[in-house]
Amino acid sequence: MSIALSRKPLLSSMSDREDGRTAILLVEDDDADARLVTRSLTPYARRASVARATSLKEARAWLHRNACDVVLLDLSLPDSFGLETVTRLHADAPSLPLVVLTGYDDEDFALDILAHGAQDYLVKGQTDGPLMWRAVQHAMARKRLEEELRLSEERLQGIIGLAQDAILTTDANLNITLFNRAAESLFGYDADDILGRPLSLLIPERFRPDHDAHIADFSVSELQARVMTNRREVLGLTANGQEFPAEVSIAKLHHAHGLLFTAVIRDVSERKRVESELRRMATTDPLTGLNNRRRFLELAEVEMARLRRYGRAVSVLMLDIDRFKAINDTHGHAVGDHALVRLAEVCRDELRDTDHIGRLGGEEFAIILPETPLASAAEVAERLRQRLALAEVPIVPGDHGHGCLRMTVSIGVAMCGDEDSSIERALGRADRALYEAKAAGRNRIVVSDGYPGPAFASASGPISMAS
Ligand code: GH3
Ligand code: MG
Ligand code: MG
Repeated sequence: MSIALSRKPLLSSMSDREDGRTAILLVEDDDADARLVTRSLTPYARRASVARATSLKEARAWLHRNACDVVLLDLSLPDSFGLETVTRLHADAPSLPLVVLTGYDDEDFALDILAHGAQDYLVKGQTDGPLMWRAVQHAMARKRLEEELRLSEERLQGIIGLAQDAILTTDANLNITLFNRAAESLFGYDADDILGRPLSLLIPERFRPDHDAHIADFSVSELQARVMTNRREVLGLTANGQEFPAEVSIAKLHHAHGLLFTAVIRDVSERKRVESELRRMATTDPLTGLNNRRRFLELAEVEMARLRRYGRAVSVLMLDIDRFKAINDTHGHAVGDHALVRLAEVCRDELRDTDHIGRLGGEEFAIILPETPLASAAEVAERLRQRLALAEVPIVPGDHGHGCLRMTVSIGVAMCGDEDSSIERALGRADRALYEAKAAGRNRIVVSDGYPGPAFASASGPISMAS
């Protein structure tokens, strides 16, 4: 082979590192300087082997074929000079520790050397064996740390880049210093445009004071990381002014210039939507959209609690369509369904927003009327009965040309009292009143006399089924 140099390891003829020794490549064209170096390292012959190259080209070729732990590099070579020598060798072997041998003892130059990829430098003529050995050890240790740092940085960048969640960091002034790809697509900003700009850009204006207070609180807290809780909703703001519900975790990092923050942000719009859809499905009757039985009873218990605490008047109605089976039998189930929907519409329309309507089952409905004494509840029931008797249901759903039918209802009215341990008892009285209304001929209301006032019955009308 044509490489003149590494004719032989200077300190040993053994091949590198088979014996665990540090493999040093000395790149030095000057024989006298090379001798000085090898002489300095002679006391370390049991721990190191030294090979020599006399030009950058030779050095590269040698490194190509041999394992090496550290390079001692003269900067004035026949084929390369000065800083360029460092740059070129570093480009070739970026993970190799370099100790530069220089004639100048100039601090700026030394710093330049380090910035270009060397780990240490030695001034020729001012270096003894122990100093050189220390420099070699130090360069290797420093390079190892640099490599670990680089790996760790690359790993981190990989994770941040791949993360599905938006990740951003801020400096001590809460200006954005990192904005990953997921953050770009979530917030609609290019990282280049938002880096250096305030974090508050990503928060709806009305929440900014609150957010500042939260950060101030977190800054002095003992926690290093925290999830911004759902105590209040956390909203993000996109570049085009859209708000979205977010789940945000923040962590802080102590730095000489103050606290740095990292935030991980997840768009939870879809989760919120599914949650609210599930809640709706669990609490409403799919046909009429009214509260289902369970939800109605929950709401009724809330009203009962209010009654017990504040002594407010609360009344209940039980409502049932008259001869509904006949509607189904005559016109079919679909028309029956439509009658139920129509009934729900009329009830919603007729009652206050604070009243609760529930479909307890089949064609049986219950209504709770807060802040309503029995006499007023009877008026509400009677008005509802009359309104429902006028409501028209198309016989062919959606097609009024085929005529309409009308339905009538019977309603039992009762008032809740202090002694009612649960809403069920009041509903029981309303149900008995409803039964009386049915027995008395339907299409009427009956007020329970169980509590507290006298019985009261409305004038009944005929069952009307116009078509
Ligand atoms: P009454 O005046 O005594 O209340 O007579 P009714 O025919 O209304 O009472 P009954 O309890 O005998 O019949 C109720 C009918 O309601 C029977 C059932 O098929 C029907 N029904 C229950 N749920 C639904 C529903 O979701 N859609 C339709 N179309 N019909 C239903
Ligand atoms: Mg019935
Ligand atoms: Mg019925």
